[in-house]
Amino acid sequence: TIEVKDVVKNFTGTHGALRGVSFSIENGEMIGFLGPSGSGKTTLLRIIAGLERQTSGEVRIRGESVDGVSPQLRGVGFVFQNYSLFKHMTVFDNIAFGLRVQKLPSDQVHKRVREMLSLVRLGGLERRYPRELSGGQAQRVALARALAPNPSVLLLDEPFSAIDSQVRRELRKWIRQVHDEVGITSIFVTHDQEEALEVADRVLVMNQGHIEQFGTPKEVYETPSNLFVAGFVGEAN
Ligand code: ATP
Repeated sequence: TIEVKDVVKNFTGTHGALRGVSFSIENGEMIGFLGPSGSGKTTLLRIIAGLERQTSGEVRIRGESVDGVSPQLRGVGFVFQNYSLFKHMTVFDNIAFGLRVQKLPSDQVHKRVREMLSLVRLGGLERRYPRELSGGQAQRVALARALAPNPSVLLLDEPFSAIDSQVRRELRKWIRQVHDEVGITSIFVTHDQEEALEVADRVLVMNQGHIEQFGTPKEVYETPSNLFVAGFVGEAN
């Protein structure tokens, strides 16, 4: 489980990026953070990842407070738009990176990278460099790299926003399959209503640094808790 309790984030000189956010996520769930630009989705994800520190409040993972704990030790893997692949490294070395940091013996690194390549269906591409991959393939490699060290939580920040809509739809379905196959807890950020409603088990709807509603796609869609949710989710049609 991931528990977020009364989390507030004020960036220097500004106020209210997160205005006291509380919720919890069960093991194995896939959660979508949905909201307009500037609503605080990325900030919340970065705080859960351990890339950003909250002003006040607490994050607990598997029952323990993770304040000051690194992403690796939190057991968190992430695919963020601005954490792209290492350009000077092959696909193999990109996926192996976190395993080598963990000082895994090289035969086990090879085994694990091969497992990951088959999980993301990219066998045969291990010697390529990022510039030799399509956008969709690069995102699959990024996902393999995030999953290689066997994290318990996977965080995705608009992983497909740069990809055209047809491929994006396929990747969306596929990422749900990978989530189910690996048996991990996942959170993805999106401002795309359709994406959140189609893929997530539950959707956290955010607006101006607070939670408007947290529920299943059906609940959010059929019984929106207020006009904001009704308007925002309604834009999907
Ligand atoms: P988007 O969909 O555009 O990425 P978001 O919902 O992810 O938006 P955040 O990026 O979390 O929103 O931003 C929430 C608020 O915090 C915004 O008002 C933003 O300007 C502010 N903010 C985010 N990062 C910083 C920073 N490093 N310094 C100052 N303000 C920031």
